[in-house]
Amino acid sequence: MQVYKAPLKDYKFLIKDFLNSSTTDLILNNSDIDQSDLEMILDEAAKFCEEELLPINQSSDSEGCIFNKGKVATPKGFIKAYKNFVENGWQGISVEKKYGGQNLPYFVNMFLDEMISSANMSFGLYPGLTSNAIDAIEKSASNEIKDLYLPKLSTGEWTGTMNLTEPQCGTDLGLIKTMASPQANGSYKITGTKIFITCGEHDLSENIIHLVLAKTPNSPEGIKGISMFVVPKIIPDEEGNLGEKNSLECSSIEKKMGINASPTCVMHYNEAKGWLVGDLHKGMKAMFIMMNGARLMVGVQGLGMAEISYQSALYYAKERLQGRSLKETKNPDKPADPILVHPEIRKNLLKIKTLTEGIRGLMAWTGLQVDISRIEKDKFKKQHSDDWIALMTPILKSFSTEVGCEASSLAVQIYGGHGYIRDHGIEQLVRDARIAPIYEGTNGIQALDLVGRKMPMHTGRLLKSFFHVVKEYLEKNSFNYNLSEFIPPLAKSFGRLQQITSFIALKGLNDPDEAAGPATDYLKMFSLVAIGYVWTQYAEISYNKGKEDPEGFYKAKIESGKYYMSKILPETGSLMSSILSGAKYYNEFDDKYFDSGFAL
Ligand SMILES: Cc1cc2nc3c(=O)[nH]c(=O)nc-3n(C[C@H](O)[C@H](O)[C@H](O)COP(=O)(O)OP(=O)(O)OC[C@H]3O[C@@H](n4cnc5c(N)ncnc54)[C@H](O)[C@@H]3O)c2cc1C
Repeated sequence: MQVYKAPLKDYKFLIKDFLNSSTTDLILNNSDIDQSDLEMILDEAAKFCEEELLPINQSSDSEGCIFNKGKVATPKGFIKAYKNFVENGWQGISVEKKYGGQNLPYFVNMFLDEMISSANMSFGLYPGLTSNAIDAIEKSASNEIKDLYLPKLSTGEWTGTMNLTEPQCGTDLGLIKTMASPQANGSYKITGTKIFITCGEHDLSENIIHLVLAKTPNSPEGIKGISMFVVPKIIPDEEGNLGEKNSLECSSIEKKMGINASPTCVMHYNEAKGWLVGDLHKGMKAMFIMMNGARLMVGVQGLGMAEISYQSALYYAKERLQGRSLKETKNPDKPADPILVHPEIRKNLLKIKTLTEGIRGLMAWTGLQVDISRIEKDKFKKQHSDDWIALMTPILKSFSTEVGCEASSLAVQIYGGHGYIRDHGIEQLVRDARIAPIYEGTNGIQALDLVGRKMPMHTGRLLKSFFHVVKEYLEKNSFNYNLSEFIPPLAKSFGRLQQITSFIALKGLNDPDEAAGPATDYLKMFSLVAIGYVWTQYAEISYNKGKEDPEGFYKAKIESGKYYMSKILPETGSLMSSILSGAKYYNEFDDKYFDSGFAL
């Protein structure tokens, strides 16, 4: 059974105790809401997710979207849920007020997105893609385009899509063939085929605004020749009234492993009318500005999947009676004890719990930096926030989505055979979670971004935004008696990370494959240390709050943290050994040995 209650206590802990309170106050003041408004907003969002989205999660997965002659019908309950979503103003929650949004802090939006992803990941993709389109237009388009499209996208009357992928190009966007021919009136005619376009066609909104990457005639080769265009399904007049249908169509939707309630469309553009967003040939720049936000949000999807996996597995572990505790019977009146008594089940649950809560803190801290960067006037403080965001984006996108997959798989394991069959809806979590490491830049590409771009950027300045902070924290707390089970393991793993960072940087100077090879292991190591830093801070806060803890919330944080520090964080040791052994075992492995046991 899919079980989900929004982790509101954890959100409140993060806002009140973990995020620096003076900074959050400043940010909340900038958006005209106070702490109690914020709690009310989160409560309302939780209600919507628990009562509207969760109940249609399994049915919409079984039903899927239905394609018929260019039109896509969403599963039962989606139209009503979407109507409620937009009428309650959730779409424009962090969009600027002048475009009809509510300008709420970004970290609040992250909590909302996490709840939606847990309750119904497919549903979340419709507003999620719209948010990406809003972001791209807000940051790169002319005022004319902003004024025409943002108000209706912010209210959710119109939805958005991102069109990058083509049959011959996924990761390597330099291979794009879609062409944009300039017209005398300043518009462009867009021709080409895009595949895998999430929510490219559906029945939730009256118009769909496609952002399309294309090349113009005689543009430079590769990614330098790419531009971005806004291509509406129905062309609006200057006031935003809907006019003629544009020359584009959805020719089919994919049959796929998961997120079945969101259509993955093949889109044909046949001299469709489009308008340039940002500068000519600067499409990748516009895309990258937007992608940071989009990648963080995919990380949030991983977090949401991990949370519902945990809650569903915990519920079952308490209910399912099998075997007896090896030490003493816990349930003498019943034929067996709940499986929660078994050490293996406890370990798996704690693994998901501690990774999920740790990632949530890292995510919230990074979201807060987005807000600080937006309002900070001090150049150096803003730079520090920007550096942190740039460094953490590939880490959070990648590690969080891996954890989403692992957590859902562990949930199936905890359910045993009942997890593998469809009835309980647990196998759906595995299928839904699996896309997140693939789209918005595969996790392999995120690791290369970390090692190849973020590590050397500004001669290592981005790394310093993390390394200096942790180093100072360790020095400050080295004699903190309360943290005796936290500081030493953190210091040890942090030392390993520093050593491996220098090792990879040096190796990469002579041979880029020596840096690319261990990139995913390095990203994992980095993530584990960053989350160890988060758990150490949770413990510090929780010891200080110990006296006001009737529900044992803070005690639970301390005990969970001890599990993480002693059982999860030490994996940095094996990752380090593997990285130090070099990349030659796979890079120099003869191609012909790959199929040594058969003929391909
Ligand atoms: C359900 C779904 C929804 C999607 N939604 C959208 C959408 O809305 N809009 C959109 O434009 N696209 C969308 N996509 C496309 C998605 O972003 C791509 O699938 C993804 O970028 C990977 O491209 P690819 O599938 O062509 O894989 P490829 O690029 O062929 O990669 C295959 C493998 O090779 C690795 N690889 C490739 N190049 C390198 C390299 N240089 N170095 C190291 N490793 C490399 C990759 O990491 C991957 O493991 C969606 C896809 C799916 C399945």
